[in-house]
Amino acid sequence: MHAAPDAYFGCNVFNTEVMRSMLPKKVYEAVMRTRTLGTPLPRDAADVVATAMKDWAVSKGCTHFTHWFQPMTGVTAEKHDAFIAPCGSGVILEFSGKELIKGEPDASSFPSGGLRATFEARGYTAWDPTSDAFIKDRTLCIPTGFVSYTGDVLDKKTPLLRSMEAVSRACVRMLRLFGNENVQRVMTAVGPEQEYFLIDKASYDAREDLILTGRTLFGAMPPKGEEMDDHYFGNLTQRVSDFMRELDEELWKLGIYAKTEHNEVAPAQHELAPIYTTSNIAADHNQLTMELMKKTALKHGLVCLLHEKPFAGISGSGKHNNWSIATDDGQNLLDPGDTPQDNMQFLLVLCAFLKGVKEYAPLLRLSSASAGNDCRLGGNEAPPTVISVFVGDDLQRVLDAIEKGESLDGTGKERFNLGVDAMPQFRKDTTDRNRTSPMAFTGNKFEFRMLGSADSISCFNFVMNTIFAKIITDFCDELEKAEDFQTALNDLIVRSIRENKDIIFNGNGYGDAWVEECKRRGLPDYPSTVEALMQYDRPEFVEIFEQNHVLTHAEITSRKEILLDNYSKTVSIEAKTMVDMARKKILPVCIAYTKELCDATLVKSQLSPMLNISDAVENTLAAEISDLTAGLYDGIEDLRSQLRVAAETKGIAEQAMAYRKLVVPAMERLRTTADALETLIPQEKWPFPCYSEILYNI
Ligand code: ADP
Ligand code: MG
Repeated sequence: MHAAPDAYFGCNVFNTEVMRSMLPKKVYEAVMRTRTLGTPLPRDAADVVATAMKDWAVSKGCTHFTHWFQPMTGVTAEKHDAFIAPCGSGVILEFSGKELIKGEPDASSFPSGGLRATFEARGYTAWDPTSDAFIKDRTLCIPTGFVSYTGDVLDKKTPLLRSMEAVSRACVRMLRLFGNENVQRVMTAVGPEQEYFLIDKASYDAREDLILTGRTLFGAMPPKGEEMDDHYFGNLTQRVSDFMRELDEELWKLGIYAKTEHNEVAPAQHELAPIYTTSNIAADHNQLTMELMKKTALKHGLVCLLHEKPFAGISGSGKHNNWSIATDDGQNLLDPGDTPQDNMQFLLVLCAFLKGVKEYAPLLRLSSASAGNDCRLGGNEAPPTVISVFVGDDLQRVLDAIEKGESLDGTGKERFNLGVDAMPQFRKDTTDRNRTSPMAFTGNKFEFRMLGSADSISCFNFVMNTIFAKIITDFCDELEKAEDFQTALNDLIVRSIRENKDIIFNGNGYGDAWVEECKRRGLPDYPSTVEALMQYDRPEFVEIFEQNHVLTHAEITSRKEILLDNYSKTVSIEAKTMVDMARKKILPVCIAYTKELCDATLVKSQLSPMLNISDAVENTLAAEISDLTAGLYDGIEDLRSQLRVAAETKGIAEQAMAYRKLVVPAMERLRTTADALETLIPQEKWPFPCYSEILYNI
């Protein structure tokens, strides 16, 4: 018998309930103020919180604590310290407010993009009191930000927290204009849907590419792909179902609202969606979810692949980032609502969103850029690389009418007056089943679908938040100056729609027609990570990050360098793995099999004066394989020489471009030849498991 989830949900989290029961009232209230209003926690209160945390963690079997942070590596980092302190001839267990608030891991081995010389290796982790501490592997984990000795941001959490502040400031200002005096804080929320593959551990272990790069670098298409649509929402096999059950339990213990689990489009592909929550908590939870997916899979003899494109020709994995903004008095600012005042506010928010996305599209594009995601975006299974927004028919009609100054029935008799019968009864369900748009309005939230499955959600969210805060701030500047608020608001909304409607596209984003239309509209396209990342430090982008205190110019430059360098390293490892596999595994098998065919030809030709047997098949096959093997050899040499050129290219950006322009195409050429050989060599001789063995055996 399993316990009901509500009996143990959050049992490994130092959450509000635990704090309420363990902390003196005054301290508890101080923590809550820190959480809801962002006021700093006094040092003596921090000491009390730390002791309570330690007592709670020790009572649950913990011996260690760690500051848990998210450096630019994209995975989480931790450095464990025991609670012990010497006392007489023994020890006492200790954990102080100082240790809770600040940690000092040696930062020299984390990417800093030149922000911190190695000799100044000190970095600080700083407690994020808005995200609950939790227990993992008998260790108390304290969510923290990570900054250098000089205060420069080195992680993914800090800019997200800062961007949430920026949104809150801007939106509170906007709400005051609408007469709302109550709201103190506005929070962004995220529900990230996580896609992943599960494969058998034995297949994984037999493939160097999966082990070293997380994706297959070779592999011919299996006879059956996704054409039957029989995997999506299909029955779960016993192993997968056992895995999901255990994963849910582990996530629930950590207070993560794992809600929906199902099979995805591709064979062996699945999805987990949690219930949405505040952005920084959602980001922490998503990191933990990915970690637990990997760990739990291993317990079931499975491996969880989070790569964006583990199998060419088979749908890749993304992470749909559902984004919304909510006030502390319970409004969702993206909810169209049905009262006119709310509609005006909603329309202004919608206009800010559209204007922000149009003006800062390159930033949104680069927020989802990675070598892995390059394999997926634009491939007619995931959104194109050009940013656009889907609003759906209902909203489109509203926007069209407003722009033309017509009433919604199209008579045009009275000038459209915002707020008076403007919105039709909004039918949420009609908004979206369009899966091809990078960014879709889905009733009361926007769903950003470009993010890669392996990526942290932080970058997209701090970029989106910053953009949104910037536009709302501009709108407030304009509206606060206005003599007549209603007229100014009307004008602003009409103007915004007119100026930004080009970013809206409600049609099929996978069609060729859209590619042409994007060019006509002049929407920017950055086909790969490298082109996208090059935009990061454009002056107008630096300006909005600095204005909103999210990132400084130096921090942006460092991020750009880290990400470009990461791209080069990823491609380099992949290319070297291909060379290794092709040389040491594929080539010898091809040569040996050709010899076998030639031997057969020889034997047959010797016997042919006596027996009437033909060696035509062996002959043809041997010739075909021999030619392809020569091609394989050339392909390996070609890739090796492109790798050398790229490795010797000076300059971080130039080098990344060399990997993209020289190495990636050479990888594709080598793969094409190897995959052709795979279709001709007997399966039992092929040096690693093929796609159908991997995708259909659990
Ligand atoms: P889909 O049809 O895209 O698969 P799902 O229902 O699986 O949709 O997932 C929707 C996700 O959006 C869930 O994680 C859900 O919690 C989240 N979500 C719902 N409402 C909001 C909201 N207001 N803000 C942010 N996320 C939300
Ligand atoms: Mg979705």
